[in-house]
Amino acid sequence: MVELTFTGRVAVVTGASRGIGEGVARALARDGAHVVCVSRSKESCSRVSDEIIASGGSAEAMAVDVSNSTEVEKACSALLERHPAVDVLVNNAGIIKDAILLRMAYEDWDEVIRTNLSSCFFWLKNLLRSMTQRRWGRIVNMSSVVGKIGNFGQANYAAAKAGIIGLTKSAAKEVASRGICVNAIAPGFINTDMTAKLDQKAIDDLSKFIPMKRLGSVEDVVPLVIFLCSEAAKYITGQVFTVDGGMTM
Ligand code: NAP
Repeated sequence: MVELTFTGRVAVVTGASRGIGEGVARALARDGAHVVCVSRSKESCSRVSDEIIASGGSAEAMAVDVSNSTEVEKACSALLERHPAVDVLVNNAGIIKDAILLRMAYEDWDEVIRTNLSSCFFWLKNLLRSMTQRRWGRIVNMSSVVGKIGNFGQANYAAAKAGIIGLTKSAAKEVASRGICVNAIAPGFINTDMTAKLDQKAIDDLSKFIPMKRLGSVEDVVPLVIFLCSEAAKYITGQVFTVDGGMTM
Protein backbone atom coordinates (compact mmCIF):
# COMPACT_ATOMS: atom_id res chain seq x y z
CA MET A 1 0.00 0.00 0.00
CA VAL A 2 1.23 3.50 -0.84
CA GLU A 3 1.38 5.72 2.23
CA LEU A 4 0.77 9.39 1.53
CA THR A 5 1.35 10.87 4.93
CA PHE A 6 2.92 14.25 5.55
CA THR A 7 2.97 14.29 9.34
CA GLY A 8 5.85 16.50 10.51
CA ARG A 9 6.39 17.98 7.04
CA VAL A 10 6.23 21.68 6.23
CA ALA A 11 4.86 22.48 2.77
CA VAL A 12 4.80 25.78 0.90
CA VAL A 13 2.09 26.13 -1.74
CA THR A 14 2.13 29.27 -3.88
CA GLY A 15 -1.10 30.47 -5.42
CA ALA A 16 -2.97 28.72 -2.61
CA SER A 17 -5.84 31.22 -2.39
CA ARG A 18 -7.98 29.50 -5.04
CA GLY A 19 -8.06 26.98 -7.87
CA ILE A 20 -5.47 24.21 -8.10
CA GLY A 21 -3.28 25.70 -5.33
CA GLU A 22 -6.18 25.79 -2.87
CA GLY A 23 -6.96 22.14 -3.64
CA VAL A 24 -3.31 21.15 -3.13
CA ALA A 25 -3.05 23.10 0.15
CA ARG A 26 -6.20 21.49 1.55
CA ALA A 27 -5.08 17.98 0.51
CA LEU A 28 -1.57 18.33 1.97
CA ALA A 29 -3.06 19.60 5.24
CA ARG A 30 -5.62 16.78 5.28
CA ASP A 31 -2.70 14.33 4.99
CA GLY A 32 -0.84 15.86 7.93
CA ALA A 33 1.43 18.62 6.59
CA HIS A 34 1.75 22.09 8.06
CA VAL A 35 0.86 24.15 4.98
CA VAL A 36 2.10 27.66 4.24
CA CYS A 37 -0.52 29.20 1.94
CA VAL A 38 0.99 31.90 -0.26
CA SER A 39 -0.73 34.45 -2.48
CA ARG A 40 -0.52 38.19 -3.10
CA SER A 41 -3.35 39.14 -0.76
CA LYS A 42 -3.21 38.11 2.88
CA GLU A 43 -7.00 38.14 2.99
CA SER A 44 -7.39 35.52 0.27
CA CYS A 45 -4.67 33.11 1.45
CA SER A 46 -5.87 33.52 5.08
CA ARG A 47 -9.33 32.35 4.05
CA VAL A 48 -7.81 29.01 3.01
CA SER A 49 -5.42 28.68 5.99
CA ASP A 50 -8.20 29.65 8.44
CA GLU A 51 -10.51 27.01 6.98
CA ILE A 52 -7.75 24.38 7.16
CA ILE A 53 -7.18 25.22 10.84
CA ALA A 54 -10.93 25.25 11.55
CA SER A 55 -11.18 21.72 10.17
CA GLY A 56 -8.38 20.47 12.42
CA GLY A 57 -5.36 20.96 10.14
CA SER A 58 -2.24 23.06 10.51
CA ALA A 59 -1.59 26.05 8.26
CA GLU A 60 -0.49 29.66 8.03
CA ALA A 61 -0.94 32.40 5.45
CA MET A 62 1.80 34.52 3.89
CA ALA A 63 1.18 37.41 1.52
CA VAL A 64 4.04 37.30 -0.99
CA ASP A 65 4.22 38.62 -4.52
CA VAL A 66 6.10 35.66 -6.02
CA SER A 67 7.26 37.74 -8.97
CA ASN A 68 9.39 39.86 -6.62
CA SER A 69 12.71 38.21 -5.67
CA THR A 70 13.18 40.42 -2.60
CA GLU A 71 9.75 39.52 -1.23
CA VAL A 72 10.39 35.80 -1.80
CA GLU A 73 13.81 36.01 -0.13
CA LYS A 74 12.36 37.78 2.94
CA ALA A 75 9.48 35.31 3.15
CA CYS A 76 11.85 32.33 3.02
CA SER A 77 14.13 33.78 5.74
CA ALA A 78 11.09 34.35 7.97
CA LEU A 79 9.81 30.84 7.26
CA LEU A 80 13.13 29.20 8.06
CA GLU A 81 13.26 31.10 11.36
CA ARG A 82 9.87 29.66 12.33
CA HIS A 83 10.37 26.13 10.99
CA PRO A 84 13.41 23.84 10.99
CA ALA A 85 13.03 23.31 7.24
CA VAL A 86 10.61 23.41 4.36
CA ASP A 87 10.19 19.88 3.02
CA VAL A 88 7.71 20.39 0.20
CA LEU A 89 7.45 23.24 -2.30
CA VAL A 90 4.62 23.49 -4.82
CA ASN A 91 5.34 26.33 -7.24
CA ASN A 92 1.80 26.84 -8.47
CA ALA A 93 1.12 30.61 -8.63
CA GLY A 94 0.42 31.75 -12.16
CA ILE A 95 -1.25 34.38 -14.31
CA ILE A 96 -2.17 34.89 -17.94
CA LYS A 97 -1.98 38.12 -19.96
CA ASP A 98 -3.01 36.95 -23.40
CA ALA A 99 -2.49 38.78 -26.69
CA ILE A 100 -1.18 37.90 -30.11
CA LEU A 101 2.53 38.65 -30.43
CA LEU A 102 2.06 41.76 -32.53
CA ARG A 103 -0.11 43.33 -29.82
CA MET A 104 1.64 41.95 -26.74
CA ALA A 105 2.87 44.70 -24.41
CA TYR A 106 6.44 44.42 -23.14
CA GLU A 107 5.09 44.75 -19.57
CA ASP A 108 2.72 41.81 -20.09
CA TRP A 109 5.56 39.66 -21.41
CA ASP A 110 7.70 40.52 -18.37
CA GLU A 111 4.93 40.08 -15.79
CA VAL A 112 3.93 36.66 -17.09
CA ILE A 113 7.54 35.46 -17.23
CA ARG A 114 8.32 36.75 -13.73
CA THR A 115 5.12 35.44 -12.11
CA ASN A 116 5.05 32.02 -13.75
CA LEU A 117 8.74 31.20 -14.33
CA SER A 118 11.16 33.46 -12.42
CA SER A 119 9.10 32.88 -9.26
CA CYS A 120 9.96 29.16 -9.38
CA PHE A 121 13.66 30.03 -9.47
CA PHE A 122 13.27 32.51 -6.57
CA TRP A 123 11.65 29.88 -4.27
CA LEU A 124 14.09 27.15 -5.31
CA LYS A 125 17.10 29.38 -4.72
CA ASN A 126 15.92 30.24 -1.21
CA LEU A 127 14.61 26.87 -0.04
CA LEU A 128 16.90 24.29 -1.65
CA ARG A 129 19.68 24.66 0.92
CA SER A 130 17.42 23.65 3.82
CA MET A 131 16.25 20.63 1.81
CA THR A 132 19.80 19.57 0.92
CA GLN A 133 20.79 19.82 4.60
CA ARG A 134 17.94 17.48 5.54
CA ARG A 135 18.60 15.24 2.50
CA TRP A 136 14.88 15.19 1.76
CA GLY A 137 12.70 17.39 -0.39
CA ARG A 138 9.86 17.37 -2.90
CA ILE A 139 9.30 20.12 -5.43
CA VAL A 140 6.44 20.26 -7.91
CA ASN A 141 6.38 23.06 -10.48
CA MET A 142 3.11 23.79 -12.26
CA SER A 143 3.73 23.93 -16.01
CA SER A 144 1.00 23.54 -18.65
CA VAL A 145 0.32 21.63 -21.85
CA VAL A 146 0.68 25.05 -23.46
CA GLY A 147 4.38 24.91 -22.54
CA LYS A 148 4.66 21.73 -24.62
CA ILE A 149 2.54 22.56 -27.65
CA GLY A 150 2.23 26.39 -27.64
CA ASN A 151 -1.05 28.29 -27.93
CA PHE A 152 -2.41 31.08 -30.09
CA GLY A 153 -2.30 34.35 -28.14
CA GLN A 154 -0.26 32.91 -25.26
CA ALA A 155 3.39 33.26 -26.36
CA ASN A 156 4.40 34.77 -23.00
CA TYR A 157 2.58 32.08 -20.98
CA ALA A 158 3.78 29.24 -23.24
CA ALA A 159 7.38 30.47 -22.99
CA ALA A 160 7.13 30.64 -19.19
CA LYS A 161 5.57 27.19 -18.92
CA ALA A 162 8.17 25.70 -21.32
CA GLY A 163 10.87 27.39 -19.23
CA ILE A 164 9.52 25.65 -16.13
CA ILE A 165 10.20 22.31 -17.81
CA GLY A 166 13.87 23.22 -18.43
CA LEU A 167 14.21 24.58 -14.89
CA THR A 168 12.63 21.42 -13.43
CA LYS A 169 14.94 19.05 -15.30
CA SER A 170 18.07 21.09 -14.48
CA ALA A 171 17.17 21.39 -10.79
CA ALA A 172 16.38 17.67 -10.66
CA LYS A 173 19.87 16.85 -11.94
CA GLU A 174 21.52 19.20 -9.44
CA VAL A 175 19.82 17.83 -6.32
CA ALA A 176 18.97 14.19 -7.10
CA SER A 177 21.87 12.89 -5.00
CA ARG A 178 20.49 14.80 -1.96
CA GLY A 179 17.18 12.96 -1.78
CA ILE A 180 15.28 15.81 -3.44
CA CYS A 181 12.85 15.14 -6.29
CA VAL A 182 11.84 17.91 -8.68
CA ASN A 183 8.99 17.30 -11.11
CA ALA A 184 6.56 19.31 -13.21
CA ILE A 185 2.89 18.85 -13.96
CA ALA A 186 1.39 20.01 -17.24
CA PRO A 187 -2.38 20.33 -16.83
CA GLY A 188 -4.63 20.78 -19.84
CA PHE A 189 -7.68 23.02 -19.49
CA ILE A 190 -8.88 22.94 -15.87
CA ASN A 191 -12.04 24.59 -14.52
CA THR A 192 -10.77 27.45 -12.31
CA ASP A 193 -10.87 31.26 -12.32
CA MET A 194 -8.11 31.14 -14.94
CA THR A 195 -10.41 29.50 -17.47
CA ALA A 196 -13.62 31.17 -16.22
CA LYS A 197 -13.62 33.62 -19.11
CA LEU A 198 -14.25 30.79 -21.60
CA ASP A 199 -17.90 30.83 -22.74
CA GLN A 200 -19.89 27.66 -23.39
CA LYS A 201 -19.10 27.72 -27.12
CA ALA A 202 -15.36 27.93 -26.42
CA ILE A 203 -15.66 25.05 -23.93
CA ASP A 204 -17.63 22.96 -26.48
CA ASP A 205 -15.03 23.72 -29.18
CA LEU A 206 -12.16 22.80 -26.86
CA SER A 207 -13.89 19.62 -25.69
CA LYS A 208 -13.88 18.32 -29.29
CA PHE A 209 -10.09 18.02 -29.00
CA ILE A 210 -10.20 16.31 -25.59
CA PRO A 211 -10.82 12.55 -25.85
CA MET A 212 -12.51 12.67 -22.41
CA LYS A 213 -14.83 15.40 -23.79
CA ARG A 214 -14.64 17.75 -20.82
CA LEU A 215 -12.40 20.25 -19.09
CA GLY A 216 -10.54 18.92 -16.07
CA SER A 217 -11.34 19.78 -12.46
CA VAL A 218 -9.03 20.72 -9.59
CA GLU A 219 -9.67 17.21 -8.20
CA ASP A 220 -8.22 15.74 -11.42
CA VAL A 221 -4.84 17.41 -10.73
CA VAL A 222 -4.49 17.37 -6.93
CA PRO A 223 -3.89 13.60 -6.36
CA LEU A 224 -0.88 13.62 -8.68
CA VAL A 225 0.64 16.59 -6.86
CA ILE A 226 0.14 14.81 -3.54
CA PHE A 227 1.74 11.61 -4.82
CA LEU A 228 4.77 13.47 -6.23
CA CYS A 229 5.22 15.26 -2.89
CA SER A 230 5.12 12.02 -0.92
CA GLU A 231 7.81 9.64 0.30
CA ALA A 232 6.45 7.09 -2.18
CA ALA A 233 7.67 9.18 -5.15
CA LYS A 234 11.32 8.97 -4.05
CA TYR A 235 12.65 7.49 -7.33
CA ILE A 236 10.78 9.87 -9.65
CA THR A 237 12.51 13.09 -10.65
CA GLY A 238 12.98 15.43 -13.60
CA GLN A 239 9.67 14.36 -15.16
CA VAL A 240 6.75 16.24 -16.67
CA PHE A 241 3.33 14.66 -16.06
CA THR A 242 0.47 15.67 -18.31
CA VAL A 243 -3.08 15.78 -16.91
CA ASP A 244 -5.28 16.73 -19.86
CA GLY A 245 -7.94 14.09 -20.51
CA GLY A 246 -5.84 12.75 -23.38
CA MET A 247 -5.71 16.05 -25.31
CA THR A 248 -2.00 15.84 -26.16
CA MET A 249 -1.30 12.12 -26.18
P1 NAP B 1 -6.12 30.67 -10.52
O1 NAP B 1 -7.37 30.05 -10.06
O2 NAP B 1 -6.17 31.90 -11.36
O3 NAP B 1 -5.19 30.94 -9.25
C1 NAP B 1 -3.94 31.55 -9.39
C2 NAP B 1 -3.29 31.65 -8.03
O4 NAP B 1 -2.01 32.29 -8.19
C3 NAP B 1 -4.10 32.48 -7.06
O5 NAP B 1 -4.00 31.90 -5.78
C4 NAP B 1 -3.38 33.82 -7.08
O6 NAP B 1 -3.58 34.49 -5.86
C5 NAP B 1 -1.93 33.37 -7.26
N1 NAP B 1 -1.05 34.40 -7.80
C6 NAP B 1 -1.12 35.00 -8.99
N2 NAP B 1 -0.13 35.90 -9.12
C7 NAP B 1 0.58 35.86 -7.97
C8 NAP B 1 1.73 36.56 -7.48
N3 NAP B 1 2.36 37.49 -8.22
N4 NAP B 1 2.19 36.26 -6.26
C9 NAP B 1 1.56 35.33 -5.49
N5 NAP B 1 0.49 34.63 -5.89
C10 NAP B 1 0.01 34.90 -7.12
O7 NAP B 1 -5.23 29.64 -11.36
P2 NAP B 1 -5.28 28.05 -11.48
O8 NAP B 1 -6.08 27.72 -12.67
O9 NAP B 1 -5.57 27.43 -10.18
O10 NAP B 1 -3.77 27.77 -11.90
C11 NAP B 1 -2.78 27.35 -10.98
C12 NAP B 1 -1.54 27.02 -11.78
O11 NAP B 1 -1.84 26.02 -12.74
C13 NAP B 1 -0.99 28.21 -12.57
O12 NAP B 1 0.42 28.18 -12.57
C14 NAP B 1 -1.51 27.97 -13.96
O13 NAP B 1 -0.71 28.58 -14.94
C15 NAP B 1 -1.45 26.46 -14.02
N6 NAP B 1 -2.34 25.89 -15.02
C16 NAP B 1 -3.68 26.14 -14.99
C17 NAP B 1 -4.48 25.59 -15.98
C18 NAP B 1 -5.95 25.84 -16.04
O14 NAP B 1 -6.57 25.50 -17.07
N7 NAP B 1 -6.58 26.38 -15.01
C19 NAP B 1 -3.92 24.80 -16.99
C20 NAP B 1 -2.56 24.56 -16.97
C21 NAP B 1 -1.77 25.12 -15.99
P3 NAP B 1 -3.78 36.09 -5.70
O15 NAP B 1 -4.46 36.58 -6.93
O16 NAP B 1 -4.57 36.20 -4.45
O17 NAP B 1 -2.39 36.60 -5.58
